[in-house]
Amino acid sequence: MKTRKITLDEKEIPDKWYNIVADMPNKPLPPLHPGTLEPIGPEALAPLFPMELIKQEVTADKWIDIPDEVRNIYSIWRPTPMYRAYGLEKALDTPAKIYYKYEGGSPSGSHKPNTAVPQAYYNKQEGIKRITTETGAGQWGSALSFACQHFDMACDVYMVKISYNHKPYRKMMMNTWGANVFASPTDQTEAGRKILAQDPDSPGSLGIAISEAVEMAATRDDTKYALGSVLNHVLMHQTVIGLEAMKQMEKAGDMPDIIVAPFGGGSNFAGLAFPFLRLNLEEGKNIRCIASEPASCPKLTRGVFRYDFGDTVGMTPLLPMYTLGHDFVPAPIHAGGLRYHGAGVVVSQLLKDKLIEARSHNDPEIFEAGVLFARSEGIIPAPEANHGIATVIAEAKKCKEEGTAKTILFNLCGHGNFDMKAYDDYFSGKIVKHELSQEEIKASLDMLNTPEI
Ligand SMILES: *Cc1c(COP(=O)(O)O)cnc(C)c1O
Repeated sequence: MKTRKITLDEKEIPDKWYNIVADMPNKPLPPLHPGTLEPIGPEALAPLFPMELIKQEVTADKWIDIPDEVRNIYSIWRPTPMYRAYGLEKALDTPAKIYYKYEGGSPSGSHKPNTAVPQAYYNKQEGIKRITTETGAGQWGSALSFACQHFDMACDVYMVKISYNHKPYRKMMMNTWGANVFASPTDQTEAGRKILAQDPDSPGSLGIAISEAVEMAATRDDTKYALGSVLNHVLMHQTVIGLEAMKQMEKAGDMPDIIVAPFGGGSNFAGLAFPFLRLNLEEGKNIRCIASEPASCPKLTRGVFRYDFGDTVGMTPLLPMYTLGHDFVPAPIHAGGLRYHGAGVVVSQLLKDKLIEARSHNDPEIFEAGVLFARSEGIIPAPEANHGIATVIAEAKKCKEEGTAKTILFNLCGHGNFDMKAYDDYFSGKIVKHELSQEEIKASLDMLNTPEI
C-alpha cells in the first residue's frame, strides 16, 4: 500500500512559533497615527490587546516559545495530517506530486483556532474576563468562542447581520461554546446606534462589526479585542502549520517546489509558507510561494502598496499594505473569509520585495476546482480553500504540458461542511463570473487620501 497520510506524534507539536520578521531583508514599515501621521508605538495598542501579544506584534526575535498550556490544547487536533493527493493527481493526469496539509480537523473546522487559543491564553494570563470580536462568515467567531470557553472567559461576537441570518449553524456553534452572538449593527454601541439611525434595516458589514467590537473593548477595563488575521502575531501563531509540514515532507522524503495557500488577510498562507520561506532567505533555496485570492477582491494582484486603514470606518492605525482602498466593497462571493480590502503588513512587504507571488481566480473556476477535489480526494473544501486548489490545478496542468514532475504543497485550511448553500448555488448555475473593472478599482483608490509610500 502506498503511503497516503503522513502523520506526526503528539510530542512533535512545535514548541516555538517562527517570526519571519527576523529574516526579512526589508523590515516592515511602521504603522502611522491617522491624525499626526507619526509612527505609533506599541503602547497605542494597550487598550485593545494584552501586553504579551503587543510584544509579539513588534518583536524581531526569531523564535517565540509556545506555552505548554497552549500546546496542550493544540493536541486536541494537532499535529494535523498531511496527505498525498493521489486521487487529484490521477484526475489531472499530472506528473506533479501534490500534497496537502489539512487544517479542517480542528474543533471549529479551520486553521483559525491555531491563533484563537494563544490569544485567549494571553488575555487570561493578564486577568481579562471578556474578549470581543467580529465575524463575517463565522469561522473566526467560532474559533474564538471555542478558545474562550476553554479558559472560562466570556466571548462577545459581533456577527454581520446578513451572515447571522444566512448562517444559523455557525451562530449555534458559537452558542454551544457559550459565546454571546449579536447581529451587527446592534443598539449596544454608539457605532451601531449611529448606523441604525441612518438605516434601521442595515445588513451590516465587517467594517461596522469591527467598530462595535473595538468600542466595547476600548470602553471596558476587563475586556479586550481579538483579530483573526492580518496582524504579525496572528501570522506567527499560524506557523505551527508550516513547521509541522516541514517535518512531514522530510518524513515523506520530499520537498516542495511550490507552496500554495488561499489568501484573505494572509494568516493561513503565512502559516504554511513562512517556515519554508526561511529556507529561501537563509539557505538560498528557491521554493515558490503563491497566495491565491478571489478575482473579485484582488488586493495582491491589482491593488496598490500604500498606507491605508485596516477597517472600513477608519478607526485603526494606518498600515503599509497592498490594498484596494478601505471603501472597496467586494462582490458578495461565498468565500466570505477572503472578502477583505487589505493584506497583512508582513506579507505585503514580502510581495513588494518579490519574495512571494500572487494569483487570482474567478468564482465558477474555484467551485469547479472544489468539486473536482471533493470527488477525487473526499473532503469537501471551504470555498476559501477552493482558491488555493484552483492554483494547484493550474500548476499541475503546467507540469503536464512541460513534462516536469514538480512537488506542490498546499494548505487545505478548512472544510466546507457548513457551506453547502454555496455548492448548491454552484450546481444550480447561480454562481457567475464577476468581472471587476479597472474603473471600479480606480474609483475606490481615488477616494484614498492616506500617505503614499
Ligand atoms: C478566515 C479564513 C481564510 C482567510 O483568512 P487568512 O487570514 O488569509 O487565512 C481562509 N480560509 C478559511 C477556511 C478561513 O476560515
